[in-house]
Amino acid sequence: MKRFKQFVTATLATSVLATGCEGGGLFSSVSEQQEIQIGSQAHAELIAETPLFQDPTVNAYVGQIGLELVAKSGRPNLRHQFFVLDTAEINAFAIPGGYVYVTTALIKNMSTRAELAGVMGHEVGHISAYHGAEAIQTNLGLSILSGIFLGEGEAAEVLNFVVGSYLNTAHSQDQELEADELGVQYASAAGYNPWGLVDFFGFIGDLSGTSDPISDFLSSHPAPSERISESSAQIQKLGITKDDPKYEYQDNQFLQIRDIVIAGSAN
Ligand SMILES: [Zn+2]
Repeated sequence: MKRFKQFVTATLATSVLATGCEGGGLFSSVSEQQEIQIGSQAHAELIAETPLFQDPTVNAYVGQIGLELVAKSGRPNLRHQFFVLDTAEINAFAIPGGYVYVTTALIKNMSTRAELAGVMGHEVGHISAYHGAEAIQTNLGLSILSGIFLGEGEAAEVLNFVVGSYLNTAHSQDQELEADELGVQYASAAGYNPWGLVDFFGFIGDLSGTSDPISDFLSSHPAPSERISESSAQIQKLGITKDDPKYEYQDNQFLQIRDIVIAGSAN
């Protein structure tokens, strides 16, 4: 996602604003409407830089899993939207306001429906836990946010700054572990075998890490081994085994979806 990052950097460089105060811990004062407004702008900038993978069968498949997870999430009434980005980077991420992304490279490197559901559950978890909203608040402080939405100052420029700041902020280790926990919770509640998420941690453990903050699953922390042990302990506590017939691991369609992605992706 290098091109997108270049945009973000440019946005930051041209901003005349500086953060004057710290707003940590005040995230609840970012309203849902504000979160959606920020997410909407970030989404527009994102898809202007990185093409969407436009296949109705793939999009419907991903979207259906997403809606099943949202129904079991902490914010079932927030409208979530799920997108497939056509990029060679193996990645999944969420931005404030209910926008969730997986990449074609991610799908190509997965083997099961449960793996995809687990990763998407993790991203829905970031939204349910307000991690994006918290990052925005921390970066900018309440006074600047108020300025945007009360019409003070250069609203568009401030909004650009908010989006840029957010996208340059990696989630903390605690937030990642919380999203893992929520991912296991939502996936299993939706009927997916949560061991799929552990499978994916095993896969990324074999890849070299990167510090790119928007490379959610490839960020340098927490270590995949820690995520595997934490999630495994949680799933064992739930009493779910890998071959538990009550939880779906694979379906007939996943490999077909993956084939469509492999055939149609420009990367
Ligand atoms: Zn994450």
